Amino acid sequence: MDSFITEKIKQLKDSIITNRRDFHMYPEFGWTEFRTSAIAIAKMKKLGYKITMGKDAVSKSDMMGVPSELELKEHQERAISQGADKELVDSMEGITGFWADMVFSEHGPFVALRFDLDSNDGNECQDADTHRPAKEGFSSVNKGAMHACGHDGHVSIGLAVAEVIAGLKTKLNGRIRFIFQPAEEGLRGAAPMIAAGACDGVDYILGMHIGFQAGKSGDLICGAKGFLASTKWDVNFFGKSAHAGASPEEGENALLAAAVATINLHAISRHGGGTTRINVGKIIAGEGRNVIAPNALLQMETRGLTTELDAYMVEQSRRVIKASAEMYGCTYTIDVVGGTKSGESSQEIIDIVYETAKDIPFYKNIEKLKDFGAGEDFAHMMSYVQLNGGLGTYLQSGIDKTAGHHNNKFDFKEEDLLPPVELLSKAVVHLLKK
Ligand SMILES: [Zn+2]
Repeated sequence: MDSFITEKIKQLKDSIITNRRDFHMYPEFGWTEFRTSAIAIAKMKKLGYKITMGKDAVSKSDMMGVPSELELKEHQERAISQGADKELVDSMEGITGFWADMVFSEHGPFVALRFDLDSNDGNECQDADTHRPAKEGFSSVNKGAMHACGHDGHVSIGLAVAEVIAGLKTKLNGRIRFIFQPAEEGLRGAAPMIAAGACDGVDYILGMHIGFQAGKSGDLICGAKGFLASTKWDVNFFGKSAHAGASPEEGENALLAAAVATINLHAISRHGGGTTRINVGKIIAGEGRNVIAPNALLQMETRGLTTELDAYMVEQSRRVIKASAEMYGCTYTIDVVGGTKSGESSQEIIDIVYETAKDIPFYKNIEKLKDFGAGEDFAHMMSYVQLNGGLGTYLQSGIDKTAGHHNNKFDFKEEDLLPPVELLSKAVVHLLKK
């Protein structure tokens, strides 16, 4: 089977790169991945996978930070104009993301692999002299969206693994599920997929990222611990407008409430129990120069090494926001728009990835387990599977890249997408072979 996999991946090389460039050119940020989903669904169907999509795959009431209906409609139309199948897009009923199953035998283990679909917000560098996607004509054509994290590569890897595994179906038992998750950025997509049953009954789950802590070609980190738990909030302050010159005393200053809150959120005493983070990343407030600001929006996030440490930051934040609002006679609302839990990879499956990678010549620098030190929506899925008696890991496969993740010049060596296809395929075969 190993030689089949190696040979198959050689054949798939061009399509892996072509697919990555296609997804790169048409990036779609969280909850708007209509084109990406439609293209991937069509390919998975063709390979013989059974698709679960729309509200069957993503629980609508658990979706957070969703763009307006109008915006979603515009993105659906754009997706169709950019080559997505109209019937498929229509049947999503406004919800992106899906999973694709193949059953090899009634009994046997259930393996799930998760790949994220979304791009980042932001505009890609369009300088042909310094940025290869611009030079070679596959840089983003969608304003305000760019694949600056490598999820274009992830979707491409997922499709390739699916093709390898479909080619081995007579030699496997159990079942496999490919989870193509929307809205990983902002940590919003995993929870509603879990709520819809994406991880029910799963014995083994693997998630992956290219690059990140695996800084260069040849690096591999088989497992992660110390995912930071995180909570994302939109906080709205409501005050009262008044003439800033004639009668400022009649106003209730929401801008000042937000400003005082921001300074003091960043000043929350840190917890001795471990790493915590807080950031207010955006404030929008006020209506005009001579008007006491009647409204303010503050977008913030907290993080903690454990779910408990994040909960500490959340509780303290709530107190600061309440007190800041009261200082200026304002009211406020808090909307949770995203978040995830902490987690740690299972040793048994780390070992399987490690042993598999040792036989792949590309991987020269293999580490078993590393502190992740950031949030990842996959932690939700992994801890769900573990809580239900299964095992999971999150691996990072090295790439040579041109800039850091989330930079507008992010690009990478595309040949580095092949080894993770081989690694994941072989790990799946190890878990499912007859
Ligand atoms: Zn990412």
